[in-house]
Parts: sequence; C-alpha cells; structure tokens
Amino acid sequence: MGRKEENIKKATKIMEDITKIRNIGTIAHIDHGKTTLSDNLIAGAGMMSEELAGKQLVLDYDEQEQARGITINAAAASMVHEVDGVEYLINLIDTPGHVDFGGDVTRALRALDGAILVVDSVEGVMPQTETVLRQAMKEKVKPVLFINKVDRLINELKLSADEMQKRFGKIITDVNKLIKLYAPPEFKDAWTVKVEKGTVAFGSAYNKWALSISSMQKFGITFKDVYDYLQKGDQATLAKKSPLHKVVLDMIVHHIPNPSEAQKYRIPQIWKGDLNSDVGKAMLNADPKGPTVLMVTKIIVDQHAGEIAVGRLYSGTIRKGDELYISDMGDRTYRVQQLAMMVGPDRIPVDEIKAGNIVAVVGLKDAIAGSTVSSLKNMEPFEPMKHYSDPVVTMAIEAKHTKDLPKLIDVLRLIAKADPSIQVEINQETGEHLISGMGELHLEVTIYRIVNDYKVEIETSEPIVVYRETVDHKGGPFEGKSPNKHNRFYIVVEPLEEKVVQGILSGDVQQGDRFKDKKTLSKKLEELGMDHEEAKRVEAIKGPNMLLDMTWGIQYLNETMELVKQAFLEAVDKGPLANEKLYGVKVKLVDAKLHEDSIHRGPAQVIPAVRNAIYGAICQGERILLEPIQNVFISVPTEEVGNVTRELQQRRGVILSIEQEEYQTTVKAKAPVAELFGFASAIRSATSGRVLWSTENAGYERVPRELQDDVVRKIRERKGLKPEPYDESYYASL
Ligand code: GDP
Repeated sequence: MGRKEENIKKATKIMEDITKIRNIGTIAHIDHGKTTLSDNLIAGAGMMSEELAGKQLVLDYDEQEQARGITINAAAASMVHEVDGVEYLINLIDTPGHVDFGGDVTRALRALDGAILVVDSVEGVMPQTETVLRQAMKEKVKPVLFINKVDRLINELKLSADEMQKRFGKIITDVNKLIKLYAPPEFKDAWTVKVEKGTVAFGSAYNKWALSISSMQKFGITFKDVYDYLQKGDQATLAKKSPLHKVVLDMIVHHIPNPSEAQKYRIPQIWKGDLNSDVGKAMLNADPKGPTVLMVTKIIVDQHAGEIAVGRLYSGTIRKGDELYISDMGDRTYRVQQLAMMVGPDRIPVDEIKAGNIVAVVGLKDAIAGSTVSSLKNMEPFEPMKHYSDPVVTMAIEAKHTKDLPKLIDVLRLIAKADPSIQVEINQETGEHLISGMGELHLEVTIYRIVNDYKVEIETSEPIVVYRETVDHKGGPFEGKSPNKHNRFYIVVEPLEEKVVQGILSGDVQQGDRFKDKKTLSKKLEELGMDHEEAKRVEAIKGPNMLLDMTWGIQYLNETMELVKQAFLEAVDKGPLANEKLYGVKVKLVDAKLHEDSIHRGPAQVIPAVRNAIYGAICQGERILLEPIQNVFISVPTEEVGNVTRELQQRRGVILSIEQEEYQTTVKAKAPVAELFGFASAIRSATSGRVLWSTENAGYERVPRELQDDVVRKIRERKGLKPEPYDESYYASL
C-alpha cells in the first residue's frame, strides 16, 4: 500500500474521534502564497500520490485555475498528521484569494474553526489581508499567522538578521492591530498572535521549510541557523531539518480548537434558532447522536457523479441511504446516494460520517451553496450568508449552434447553483441570456468554464456595467389611475436612510414581503434612524428599497395590499430612467381611492396604477443614475507610481492615498467599473509588468451629471427602448 492509501485508511478511523479533528483554511492577500502553502502541506502530509507530488497542484484542480495561477474554488482536502504519537485529521479548505470571489470566501469560512493567515514577508499586510481577516473574525474563526517568502528577504532584499527580525516584528504588530480591531470582544486578547505563544510561524512555502518557537526546540534549530542556511542558498537542508508541514500542522493541532470546542461559541454566531431546543443543544455539542444538520458551503460538479454538495456537518451522523430535507425545498426529501471525504481531486467513499467533519454528499440535487440540510423537516436554516457585494458586470451570452440551446440553459442553471455570486437571467424566447458577476475577471472565468468544462460554444457581448437608479429628493404625492379609472393610488418617494440601505445590503435587515416578526423589524429600523411611525408600517423590502403603507382606515385596502406589494416588487426591478434596478428608494403609499366591487380592482387595474404612481413620483423627485465603483489597490516599485496615477486618472479614477514603504509604494484609488474594463492589461503594460493589484466593490455613486443623459441614452438603446425616458406628464396621462 502506498503512503497515500495508508493515510486514507487512517483518516477514516481518526474522523470518529472529534477531539482529533481540526477544520482549517488559509486566507491571504492574492499572491502571498496560500495555494503553494496548501499544496505543500498536503504533499508533505502524504496525501498526494508520490509520483504526482511536486508536479501537480492538488487544490487548484480546475485546469483553468492552474493556467491563471489563482485559486477560484474553495475545494477541500483532508490530511493525517501525528503529534507526540497521536494522529489527527486536519481538514483543509482552500479559500479563493481574489476579492472578486468574496462570496466563496465567506462560505468557505463558515465551515472552518481556524485560519492560517499567510502574509508575504516582503509586502507585509495588504488591503485584502485586512478584508479576509475581518471576514474570518466575523465568523469567529481563530487565526494563526504564517509569514511567508522569507527567502526573498535575503535573496532579493539582502537584509541582515537583525533587519529580518524587525520586519517580522512589524508584520506581527500590524496583524495584531487588525485582530484587536475586528475580533469578537471575548477573544481580542486570546486571539492576538505571538511568537512566544507559538501562534506565529515563518518560512518559505515554496521551499518547504518553516520555523516556530516550538519547532526550534523540537528540531534543535536556531534563528541564526536559518539565516546561515539562507545565506548559503541551502534551503534544501533547511526543509529536511525543519519541514514546513510538520511545523505548520503542529501549530494547527496545538492552537486551533477542535469542532466540539469551537461549535460552542460559533453556533450562536452563525445560527439564529433556539439554542435550548434539542437541535440547538446537539449543534452546540457537535453531538453525533443528534439530528443531522449539514451546512453546504459549496457545490462542485463532477463529470461522473454529477453535483456534489460539500459542507460542514454540525450535528448528527450522515449515512448512505439517509433521507434528508433541504431548507426552502418544502416537504421533499433527498436520498444520500454517496458519501465521501475529500482529498484534493479524490473523493474517498465512506459509509458514515459524524458531526464535526467536512463531508461530500451526492444526491442532494436541489442544494445550493448556503443550503441547510437536515433530518428535521422544519429546521431553522443557518443565518442567510452575508454577501459583501452585488454583481456589477453583465454579459449577454448566446449558444453558437442551435443544437446547444437547451444544453446552455442547463449549464447556466448549474453555474448559478454552484456559485451564488453569479446571477443568470434566462430568456427562452430570444435565446440571449444574461450572466452577471462581481467583476470582469469573475465573468471571464465563468465563460471559460462554460466553453472548456461544459463544452458549449458560445458568443458573448462585451461586458456591460450594471447601473442602479435612485431619487435625489422627495417626489409626489403622485396620483396613479387604474386603466378603468375607478381606483387611484397616491405615492410619495424619497431617498431611504443610508444606514437602512446598509442594513439591508449586509443582511441585518431581512428582505421580504411577509414579516413574521414586525416588532423586531421596526425596532431595528428605528435603531438605524428611521422614523418611529414609518418603521412600524413596512410592507415590503426588496433590494435596498422599501414599501410603506402610511394610510389610515381606507376601505378595501387590506384586500388590495397584496397587489400593491406586487406592483412595488415589479417596479423596483425596472426603474423609469433606464430600466435598471432601483437603489435606496423609500416608496410610501399615502392615500388611495378604491372601487367597492372587487371585480373592478383586480391585478390588471391595481398593478399598473401603483406602478405609474411610483414612476411619476420618482420623476418628480429627480432621477439619478448610479454606477458601481471599485476600490483599486496597486502596489509597485516607487519609480512606477507616476505611470499608475496617469493610468487611473484617464479612467475617472480618484487617488485616495499613496503610501510609500521601504521597497514599494501602494496606491489606493477608486474608479467606476465602467472605466475599469481592460485595466488588467493596461496597468501591466504601463508598469512593464511590475505591478500587483486588486479591486474590491465599493458600492454605488452618482454618474457625473454631465454624463448622465448620454449614459442613459446608450443603456436605453441597448435595451431596445426609445432613447429618451418618459417624463411625469406621461405617467399622469396613463
Ligand atoms: P496565492 O495567490 O496566495 O494562492 O499565491 P500562490 O501560492 O499562487 O503564490 C504566488 C506566487 O508566489 C507564486 O509564483 C509562488 O511560486 C510564489 N511563492 C509562494 N511561496 C513562496 C516562497 O516561499 N518564496 C518565494 N520566493 N516565492 C513564493
């Protein structure tokens, strides 16, 4: 039996004892070495066939990820590691490093109890280091620190031993500042990382060596030894004396809690059901005898097995053949056809898996990333996952050959399921479908998958920016009449309070048109600055928009409210300026006159009347077009800064800060997404390729006044609408 096979056999045994399990991930700024670290941990732990080790990146198993050299999918791999004669099972989830794929990061974090924060010793703490660390803290995932690429400090920067230590000191201080800022209050001290505690290691993921305080003792190696080996250019000996995987995995075993410890404080953070219920207690205790509760963090698609749901089992035991419910799928049950643990590209079939583990399940056909799967029918799902951003770029796509039309629709549905940050709009009539994502790169990657993995040839449009519409100030009351003139609705619109908008976007305020607990909702809205009376009268929330019923005692309105809501839900999807979605609009019904006979106030009468009143009021409140903005972080050698700022200024970019460090300068700017198409190649050629950059969605801002009419006209023409939008007199005349 090879080492890998032997380890797999061991793994299936260890997984029975929850105190021997660790669920961890790696988080980092892009290019700091996450993937290299993960791969070399897996190879070192002997979970890769010998002949493959070194040749193949296990975690980046998508062909395309290898070509691009960035990790896009959070895939999982389990490893066996021995400390002092005891064997542990370490489940490693690889998280994507590009903020374009932020949704994936959050989802992967949900399954973890600990994270290795990887920081490049030359670059230090970068903007995304902060973003991912903040996300981890929010999910109560405990960090340890790995300072990577230490070879560069000597080979490239020629630092002295003393300077090297200073550099480590600064990185540790910077990281701890962030931990102090974002950690849950009860862990602010306990979670700060310290060399003496053993929660910091440094080394070279690429050259496979590392050091920590405990490994120095264990392997009898000193800081000076390391410095000498590096100076001699002999990292191979270092890798033998103090191997990366041993040092880092030891640190994990000692400092990351096991699932049973972690679930005690993590469950209250990520699940809002009753902690005193049977299932609540079972999850707090990671009880293998409790009801089955699985949180799906990712759907992967396998050519043979089809869709596979990967996730964290918080309670109970899953067995082959179990019948389970999926949240939001009603009374239907789904049979577990196959159960497996994941080792990079391999799935190892097992008959049962107990609470605390990461599992792969075949058979949960309707599960999506984020689903809660349970043996209980009415299981309270995990908190809706918080997305940090909305899709901002769209492409139209069409099948090249008519024979592929139905297949393309299937593929698009699959893609939307596997990656909830992708939205697809399928148009069976025209065959031109829309696919929206977090940025140009995100869409490029998805398109690549459609063509190469699913083998559908397609034609795509240029990327298109997703705009939003809002109002400048209060508009209305505006009267909307039903086509039969027997019903009238009076609507006022105004900008929704900014804090409320943020509350909706972050998921703190739930969207919907039926609220079980209106009291809690109105209390929360009041806290966010809404008027007391208004906060009590919310009828529907969609996107960051809100419908309020501010009327008193109007006859028949109760019976008509469902239709008013329906009109609102439709109207917010298509604004009156350019048919883009509304953003931050408060819609208030202030009066209504209704026909006494319900026959005369059906959907065909009420919906257009309310819609016209909303649109008319928005015209009076002055229509504003909003465009998505991204923060751009660029790091270059100092002499290239001029080229960077020039490139940004040509793209309506605003420079927010320029920070010069010893070796490089970091430029932070913001720019409209519309201007950032093609930025990747432009910035590379402007700086002769000496650039590291990343973006992050930063909400919406007003399109400059002088550009608005022109942009609106272009959007309308693209959508086949008449170039000029209708004005208020049009909505009054309907
Ligand atoms: P990720 O984006 O965080 O997953 O980073 P990768 O693992 O893809 O690494 C980015 C680049 O840094 C690759 O070219 C790696 O070969 C390189 N790299 C990773 N670790 C080291 C290291 O310890 N030393 C040096 N010099 N380069 C490294």
